[in-house]
Amino acid sequence: MTGRLKTFTVLFALLLAASACSGRPESYSKTRVIMGTYVTITAERGDLPEILTRAAVFDAFAEIERVDRLMSTYKQDSQLSEINRQAGIRPVKVDPEVMQAVKDALEVSRMTAGGFDPTVGPLVRLWGIGHEGARVPAPDEIKKALAVVNYKDVAVDAGASTVYLTRKGMYLDLGGSAKGYASDRAVDVLKSKGIKGGIVAVAGDVRLFGSRSDSRPWGVGIQHPRDKGGLLAKLELTDAAVSTSGDYERFFIKDHTRYHHIFDPSTGYPAKGLMSLTVVAKEASLADPLTTGLFVLGPDKAYAFANAHPEFSVLMVTSKGEILKTGLFKSIRIDGPITPTQD
Ligand code: ADP
Ligand code: MG
Repeated sequence: MTGRLKTFTVLFALLLAASACSGRPESYSKTRVIMGTYVTITAERGDLPEILTRAAVFDAFAEIERVDRLMSTYKQDSQLSEINRQAGIRPVKVDPEVMQAVKDALEVSRMTAGGFDPTVGPLVRLWGIGHEGARVPAPDEIKKALAVVNYKDVAVDAGASTVYLTRKGMYLDLGGSAKGYASDRAVDVLKSKGIKGGIVAVAGDVRLFGSRSDSRPWGVGIQHPRDKGGLLAKLELTDAAVSTSGDYERFFIKDHTRYHHIFDPSTGYPAKGLMSLTVVAKEASLADPLTTGLFVLGPDKAYAFANAHPEFSVLMVTSKGEILKTGLFKSIRIDGPITPTQD
């Protein structure tokens, strides 16, 4: 979904690949560029011949490409692009899968009181962060974009299988949730091909399942928000999804202020209060948008949410550099505070 490759994801992917592969010929791992970012898939061979393991990984990559074709706003022929072209004009018939993805996104919008808002597209396009010409827009431009950002104005008709953006100028952007969804679907493909354990990492959205042949848990590194290539923490997990959103992925600095790619739909400006936020959940389809939504809510509300939802574990680095942890992160040592450098 991103228009640009991100340095951090390279490191992230390499770390994952290294931890999954080092000295372990019983697994097969490959990295490719899809959805504008690095995707690494690792599969344990188990009892399968190597050729079938490779074929399963190949099919899992194809699945991620398929999800991208359905849900990318960068592809003019995607169903999402058609929904956007028909904003304020007419409902658009979509595949059940796109319908579900839109419904799931709106559900996370409700869970996070609008922190996650898939209609944030006009703001994403206005700021252009991560693209040539990114700039701080004038306040009246932000006001104009904000006027057409509201997830409550998306009309979903499950019976007719249509999605309708009810006002002209609205623009649906699933950039905050499609990568997690793609990770889950790729894992389904690996499982259906007989793979007993593996990792699918689409940038910072990671889903892992089953176990390694040597019975050790999977290692997942969480990117340090101010030390490129450094790790904030390392988790050992078996079946889980780990998603991280941060202000260090795509951003620019102007007049000593960092402007990044996660927007607060209540202000029209990049969300304040956090450098990074990680969610561990069962599925990446949920962890990914939840991470983005909680990032927008900021440390206090996100921490309250996490404490009220023990089914998720949350790790945050606040803009001041403090570390906040819930769930399984509580038992992991994380060195803080992080120095809050701007660049
Ligand atoms: P990344 O895509 O870099 O891994 P996220 O999962 O946090 O990071 O998603 C950020 C992307 O989501 C942005 O590039 C944009 O397309 C979209 N987005 C930005 N702000 C919001 C928001 N408040 N709600 C939903 N999506 C958002
Ligand atoms: Mg996300």
